[in-house]
Amino acid sequence: MTEGSMDSKILLPEARIPKAWYNVIPDMPGPLEPVIHPGTLQPVTPDDLLPLFPMALIEQEVTTQRWIEIPEEVRDIYRLWRPSPLYRARRLERALGTPAKIYYKYEGGSPAGSHKPNTAVPQAYYNKVAGTRRIATETGAGQWGSSIALACQMFGLACTVYMVKVSFNQKPYRKSMMQLWGAEVLASPSERTAAGRGILAGDPESSGSLGIAISEAVEDAAGREDTRYALGSVLNHVCLHQTVIGLEAKEQLAIAGDYPDVVIGCHGGGSNFAGIAFPFVADKAAGKQLRIVAMEPTSCPTLTRGIYAFDYGDTAKMAPITRMYTLGHDFMPPGIHAGGLRYHGASPLVSQLVHAGVAEARAVPQTACFEAAVQFSRCEGIIPAPESSHAIRGAIDEALRAKEEGRERTILFCLSGHGHVDMAAYDAYFGGRLEDFDYPEAAIRESLAHLPKVTV
Ligand SMILES: *Cc1c(COP(=O)(O)O)cnc(C)c1O
Repeated sequence: MTEGSMDSKILLPEARIPKAWYNVIPDMPGPLEPVIHPGTLQPVTPDDLLPLFPMALIEQEVTTQRWIEIPEEVRDIYRLWRPSPLYRARRLERALGTPAKIYYKYEGGSPAGSHKPNTAVPQAYYNKVAGTRRIATETGAGQWGSSIALACQMFGLACTVYMVKVSFNQKPYRKSMMQLWGAEVLASPSERTAAGRGILAGDPESSGSLGIAISEAVEDAAGREDTRYALGSVLNHVCLHQTVIGLEAKEQLAIAGDYPDVVIGCHGGGSNFAGIAFPFVADKAAGKQLRIVAMEPTSCPTLTRGIYAFDYGDTAKMAPITRMYTLGHDFMPPGIHAGGLRYHGASPLVSQLVHAGVAEARAVPQTACFEAAVQFSRCEGIIPAPESSHAIRGAIDEALRAKEEGRERTILFCLSGHGHVDMAAYDAYFGGRLEDFDYPEAAIRESLAHLPKVTV
């Protein structure tokens, strides 16, 4: 037995917070696809992006440097919750009667309760250094808004969050978190922007959408010299920042004397999946055998039923066009409880890895995910975010398969956040009010008919 092999938690000292992020671009199975301007349908230049992002982040989108140094100021704030613990789920293993070992990396211990501050903090930092005074962004249920509000507070930046109105009214707790950390929160559509006023003129009762909120935040940032925009998932620099998850997990597994046969993450825009998986993609590129699995909801089956094509990043067709798995930018996902997994597209890097067969994807229905989350919580205690429950479903299914086959297997998954602010979803589950939903093929085909005609 290795030292520490009976531990439930494998902890690293603060000095072992990674000093560099791992950039997967040099280890990708092919060259990067161009990013296309939504207006001209030609490749974007850095100058096109400068009104929205500081140059350091634009460079991180495309750099082929394998290791990117983490600024000391960022590591200093990471210290508030990092390194995050790696747990061995012994009680869950026993309950399942599986010969598999299940490890999970828990990102719910951050102040905002998810992995999102891992990128919010460096994004605020690079903005501060570039002279930005204020960040404008959008949020759905508030996971990203609360993370960027926290990060802006840490670096003394002002922050305005356009929050989808239906969430603003129905899910007020994350709004309060954002206000606690000093952000201004506006219900979107708002009177603040032309985009918002336009929507309200047509429909004063509009309950908003993520697409509308993005349009408002982008208009706000592009229109003010002191303001930039920030995005919580999908982009390459976001995936880069999240690799602290997998880098720490690798070190922690080495302490336990283990290495995963399969690495699992839930997938919305791709950032926590990239975070846990990309450092293992490096090993796979170097010849190691392991499986890497992204878990998504059957109600928004981007990676499993979408197509790999150029599409707009947003419904309003203002965001850049990238090649990714997509269900079509006008795809309307149903109101499932894992709100963070309701995106029509995916990270271009994750998409390319799935397309090349380096990573695989599986879709699971939400009731099976809540069932897994409840089983997990009754063994391990932690209450998972509804998004994270998809990764738990994947891990439990792998463990049950190992049992059937009578084979040992080492499973690593990312528990991307806690569910304390999502108890209404558990309430719906226990009340029998959750339904499974397979997105109809005809509706997917309909929205896929509206992809932009990119010829570069
Ligand atoms: C936002 C969120 C997700 C989904 O976003 P990704 O970019 O796919 O990681 C998953 N889990 C939690 C807890 C979230 O807050």
